[in-house]
Amino acid sequence: MNLSKSKYCMAVQCLKMLWLNENKPEVKKEIDNESVLDNGIEVGIKARELLGEHVNISFNKDLQVMIKETKEYLKKDNIVITEASFGDNNNFCSVDILRKKGDKLEIYEVKSATEINDIYYDDLAYQVMVVSSLGYNVSKALLVYINSKYERKKELELDKLFKVEDVTKKINEKLDEVKNNLEEIKESMKRKNEPSQKIGMHCFTPYECPFFDYCTKSLPENNVFKIRRMPVKKKLELYNKGAISYDELLKEDIDTKFRQQIDFELKALRPDIKRKEIKKFLKQLSYPLYFLDFETFQQAIPKYEGVRPYMQIPFQYSLHYILQEKGEVEHKEFLAEADIDPRRSLAEKLVEDIPLNVTTLAYNMSFEKTVIKNLANLYPDLKEHLMNIHDNIKDLMIPFKERYYYTKDMHGSFSIKYVLPALFPNEESLNYQNLELIHKGGEAMSAYANLGKLRKEEQKKVREALLKYCELDTYAMVKIYQKLKEEVMEVNS
Ligand code: SF4
Repeated sequence: MNLSKSKYCMAVQCLKMLWLNENKPEVKKEIDNESVLDNGIEVGIKARELLGEHVNISFNKDLQVMIKETKEYLKKDNIVITEASFGDNNNFCSVDILRKKGDKLEIYEVKSATEINDIYYDDLAYQVMVVSSLGYNVSKALLVYINSKYERKKELELDKLFKVEDVTKKINEKLDEVKNNLEEIKESMKRKNEPSQKIGMHCFTPYECPFFDYCTKSLPENNVFKIRRMPVKKKLELYNKGAISYDELLKEDIDTKFRQQIDFELKALRPDIKRKEIKKFLKQLSYPLYFLDFETFQQAIPKYEGVRPYMQIPFQYSLHYILQEKGEVEHKEFLAEADIDPRRSLAEKLVEDIPLNVTTLAYNMSFEKTVIKNLANLYPDLKEHLMNIHDNIKDLMIPFKERYYYTKDMHGSFSIKYVLPALFPNEESLNYQNLELIHKGGEAMSAYANLGKLRKEEQKKVREALLKYCELDTYAMVKIYQKLKEEVMEVNS
């Protein structure tokens, strides 16, 4: 096997993970990180400009072609090469940015993160090991990552957007460890039989392991790892002392909210509905009633003035509303054009669509409130109206968060993605899987960010899918609200 940077890091996290990746890829679970990957690629490409003029080694399936091309360029004394590639029979790496000054090489590893994770040192140390074992003189190892505090002005300033940290000393101290790791990886990969490895923190960090379901397949279906909102550390503590099944967990000293999830699922309890509390919650709401949901996206490299890396930029909203008791459910929506700063037009439309002094419901309102507050700070002329909307938002999540309404099918969660199917198990119109193209927030984010790259026809299809997706979010809220009302009506009757 030819080891790469990513495979080396995988093995550092867990040897079994790499073994499974090579020998049983079919049991790997897909991890939803589309927008993270999009940002990573964009950051990598932009960072290439950091050291000025450079040459790039294009990807080739035949790695030898890349290695040969790199060697040619390295005949020059002073040069910057991106994706410079090195390798022997066992190890291969492409260096994000390589600077050659005389006979010295500087290796820059680019990350789209805003802070350093320990695994980045392993990544860089592996590259230094591969490059220096080929006889090159590596004088510096540096990490390049995003400065989250940077706010874009009219022009993008790469030297302010990126933080560059010289970590040569730390990397040099790690080289013996890399050597030992490489030996261990080599031995492990020779094995025909799957290595055994206990479940532990390494299954969750630095990256969520895609083989977790496979490695825990012999555990009872209802096990400690299915308990929502319990910190991983606590789950592992219980797991290590043998409290794994729901029955065993009930004998442990665990928080009431976790006990409730177990009790409900184990005994298939009937829904617990605290009607008095629900009634109290509903009493604070008055018509006209608006149901609001934003979709946002993030840019690792800010494209618009006043934007910071990874700031939530709203590009779309859906708004259902009911003007009076027993009134019709009506709908408005907004979706920005592709490749423009969507914030101003969205803010203008929002103040047009939501009148002053009305109750607006959001599900998990802190998100909607933050988006609105940011818009209010950005546009002083709209501030008063936007803050009026902000101050009148109520959270539809409360009855579920406070467990005024709980069913076993909520599995300990109060997220709308669990609450909705638990309340409406057979309602096809509320099933996100029935939607075309876009079924979850991450897909919406990525779809909008890439909208401008599509041809007109495709753009139209994606825009329709985005509108349908967001509309379902607020339609779901209306249905949840109505369900709560029905429960209260039963109390009155
Ligand atoms: S689930 Fe844990 S033990 Fe299994 S491969 Fe992943 S990291 Fe290793």
